Amino acid sequence: MQSWLLQQEPFSRMRPVKRLYDDNLYRFDTPQPSYWEATANDVEVTAAPLQGTESCDVAIIGGGYTGLSAALHLARDYDIDVRVLDAGHFGWGASGRNGGFCCIGGTGVSSADLIKMRGVDNAKEFYRSQVSAIELVRQIAIDEDIDYQAFGAAEVEVAHTSKAFRRLQQEQELLSGTLGIESQIVGADESRERYYDSPEQFGAMVIRPAFGLHPLRYCKGLANASARRGARLHARSEVLEWGKTDDGFHNLVTAGGSLKASRVVFATNGFMPEQLNRTFHARTLPVVSAIVVTRPLSEEEKAAQAWRTEHPSINSRRILNYYRLLPDNRFLFGGRGHTKGHTSGERQTYDEIAGTMHRMLPAWANVEIEYRWHGLICYTRRLSPSIGQLDEDPSVYFGFGYHGNGVNTATWAGKQLADWMGKGRAPKLPVIVMGLGGKFRPARLRLKYLQLGIRLSTLLDRRS
Ligand SMILES: Cc1cc2nc3c(=O)[nH]c(=O)nc-3n(C[C@H](O)[C@H](O)[C@H](O)COP(=O)(O)OP(=O)(O)OC[C@H]3O[C@@H](n4cnc5c(N)ncnc54)[C@H](O)[C@@H]3O)c2cc1C
Repeated sequence: MQSWLLQQEPFSRMRPVKRLYDDNLYRFDTPQPSYWEATANDVEVTAAPLQGTESCDVAIIGGGYTGLSAALHLARDYDIDVRVLDAGHFGWGASGRNGGFCCIGGTGVSSADLIKMRGVDNAKEFYRSQVSAIELVRQIAIDEDIDYQAFGAAEVEVAHTSKAFRRLQQEQELLSGTLGIESQIVGADESRERYYDSPEQFGAMVIRPAFGLHPLRYCKGLANASARRGARLHARSEVLEWGKTDDGFHNLVTAGGSLKASRVVFATNGFMPEQLNRTFHARTLPVVSAIVVTRPLSEEEKAAQAWRTEHPSINSRRILNYYRLLPDNRFLFGGRGHTKGHTSGERQTYDEIAGTMHRMLPAWANVEIEYRWHGLICYTRRLSPSIGQLDEDPSVYFGFGYHGNGVNTATWAGKQLADWMGKGRAPKLPVIVMGLGGKFRPARLRLKYLQLGIRLSTLLDRRS
């Protein structure tokens, strides 16, 4: 059977690039002004742009955790000839600019809803894979000697109201009792003693395993480990066309050259150039998430908020905030970014996020914010990750849709894809992550769905 690629011109030649968000979000030549970029520039990654005509067995589009973990495992464990093309530098995407939470997550729904939607056995299998994914990140760092500055040893989910605390109690029963995840409930007083004080602190749930890390150091570490193990890396090599040659090879064209490959891994997650391949069009809903980081807090300032924890934390809102103390006593606080598709309101987004932080942690209302940045997380229609091989062309593999929890999930997805290609057979993946999932239809209304969803969640948050 001929693949769809043979039957038509590359999709990218047929239509102009039309992205969901404005061009500001896709400036591959410009790093985000993040705290991570400012504190990882001692780690060099050597990756010249692709030049001329080259070939390899596996070509990977996208040099974040998914692509790099796939490359590392392919080169190291299977001795496969692999190249990674990234449009920016390695770590330009979400893998270089996230909150650094290495925690259980990966879906857009609560554990109760996951069980309702996909059944208890499938949910259990998925949660088990999340725990393995965290262990995998730890193991890679040990094996490849990556110093990602681990910080904290659990995730704390803080109830923002008393009603939310009751919900957390139910969730914890499910996590511990049914899904086998180590978790415990801590009442408001104990939570204040152990973690922090806040007018929005009504008790907490503590989940393990989890920890915080420096996401860009981890990403650069993965890149260097992949290269050391034999993968070839090409930065500033945006794939502009993806076609197939008459003899059945993939042909990826960049501004500087072209790469012929037997197999391709599509690993671009929230920054997916969906015009490159029709099958992937409308499979994702990229959502902007934004982060602010303060100057270092003094011991007195930490005491004023009774801040005592190194654990990464989130609150229990549907539109949640994620926050953590960093090893140098700065405070990182993240939340939802703009949803209009243009970035002219960026400043307002950061002010809103800082406003939420000040409401939650009023003693820090006058602490200066020194870094602000944003990026795209990736939702799918079925609200769980998509990992697999295309039915219509088994030489194409993919991993995306980690719902803002890719540090562990993307790393794990990359390894699953490498094992799949290396062993020549599908690994036993949890049903919840298997395959492409559905398309958003009509695709052009995706941001409208998002805005609607956010309005609804905000309303529900006000009532709880
Ligand atoms: C602000 C923010 C905070 C987050 N916080 C957390 C967190 O605390 N914990 C957590 O687990 N997850 C978090 N996430 C999510 C996590 O960062 C992602 O799920 C994960 O990094 C995805 O990895 P990836 O390799 O699939 O994609 P990415 O890291 O986004 O990499 C995709 C790459 O594809 C490249 N690319 C795009 N188009 C092309 C093309 N045409 N040719 C070549 N290359 C191309 C891009 O340059 C990019 O580098 C956060 C994300 C954001 C944005």
